Amino acid sequence: MSHPIQINNETCVRCGECVPACPYAAIRQDQGAVPAINLDVCTLCGACVDVCPVTAIKIEATSKGAALDSFRDVWVFAEWSGSAFQSVTFELLGKARTLADDLGQKVVAVFFGSGIANQAGPLIAAGADQVLMADHPDLAAFQDERYAQVLLRLCGARKPASILFGATTVGRSLASRVAVPLFAGLTADCTGLAICPQTRHLLQTRPAFGGNIMATIITPEARPQMSTVRPRVMKPLTPDPSRRGEVVMTELTAELLKARARRLSFVAETGSTINLADAEIIVSGGRGMQKPENFAMLEELAGVLGAAVGASRAAVDANWIAYPHQVGQTGKTVCPKIYFAIGISGQIQHLAGMGSSDIIVAVNKDPDAPIFKHASFGIVGDLFQIVPILTREFRKALGK
Ligand SMILES: Cc1cc2nc3c(=O)[nH]c(=O)nc-3n(C[C@H](O)[C@H](O)[C@H](O)COP(=O)(O)OP(=O)(O)OC[C@H]3O[C@@H](n4cnc5c(N)ncnc54)[C@H](O)[C@@H]3O)c2cc1C
Repeated sequence: MSHPIQINNETCVRCGECVPACPYAAIRQDQGAVPAINLDVCTLCGACVDVCPVTAIKIEATSKGAALDSFRDVWVFAEWSGSAFQSVTFELLGKARTLADDLGQKVVAVFFGSGIANQAGPLIAAGADQVLMADHPDLAAFQDERYAQVLLRLCGARKPASILFGATTVGRSLASRVAVPLFAGLTADCTGLAICPQTRHLLQTRPAFGGNIMATIITPEARPQMSTVRPRVMKPLTPDPSRRGEVVMTELTAELLKARARRLSFVAETGSTINLADAEIIVSGGRGMQKPENFAMLEELAGVLGAAVGASRAAVDANWIAYPHQVGQTGKTVCPKIYFAIGISGQIQHLAGMGSSDIIVAVNKDPDAPIFKHASFGIVGDLFQIVPILTREFRKALGK
């Protein structure tokens, strides 16, 4: 059987350019010889084809299709702070479970850190069938070069069909560093993920053109299919401590852990203390609030409810409230139990940040405001009359 990737002995000039271009270290060249490709490791990504100055390397199109089919399983990068997982990890595992079940494949959590050997349980309880672990003091804190090198090596050895990352600072940094050498492409900030029943490609949906349309992106020519997903967009499964899974330790070499950058210290950001992403109740105000002083009314209601105060971009742009309070496509994504949208029209860019809240209560004087299409409870009227009533009644009901 002919190999899916061939180097033409006649045209190859033995320059060796393909050797360092291979992201999987699958090409070796003995002195003066035609390079040899290790087909167990090669993913047919085409990096060597692109650098060959004499087009001596060819990949058969049909073989490429078959090769893509051989990529299996849905991987989730488990983001670990050193003592706990970021909540987005469990949200991604919940979604990965559905995707993998649709494909009849496994959910694999990829977990790097130091002294983590006994920490895989929550990942398995949240939906992982297998945890690929890399445990080493050099991996104690996120360091993009090292993490990317280890992840690339795992991809070469195990060929995942998809990898999901949180759209966090860590996830974004790592995903792009891995996607580029793999020639994989990367769909950032997905709000929906599904499997196409016909092609079995990953359907990656995200807002496009300023949020005016939702675009579904596929990666038909490359594997793994790579996506980032913002925290709070997907729902985690209820943890099941009785689930069983396999833990696989990764062998690490000094070469894999090499890095040009060194972490000197960690300085926590000070300043804004608002944590919208973790709030269970959010009271948000929009342009309907009319001026900054009127946000005191929302703070009072939020105080009674034990809620955080959010805002639309219109209110933030008007300097009525600071940017860390902004909810939406260019602000925070939130998923509270209750979201109050007060004097907010419900444009798609705002909905992108709060549309998956469990209960949405909208107060708006315009009965045709788009927010009412998404609200669980809608109150049509003047917010300056309604908010004080809500505050008074909640105070009474909660005995405050
Ligand atoms: C690329 C891009 C990114 C964006 N990112 C975001 C984002 O992250 N977050 C975001 O929020 N927006 C974002 N926007 C802006 C978004 O398109 C809207 O302009 C914005 O959400 C509107 O805010 P709003 O609902 O407060 O204002 P408006 O749309 O002006 O709505 C104000 C609402 O208040 C109601 N109202 C007025 N007075 C009263 C009253 N007395 N009582 C009751 N109701 C009253 C009105 O009926 C109206 O429905 C983005 C836009 C773009 C192009």
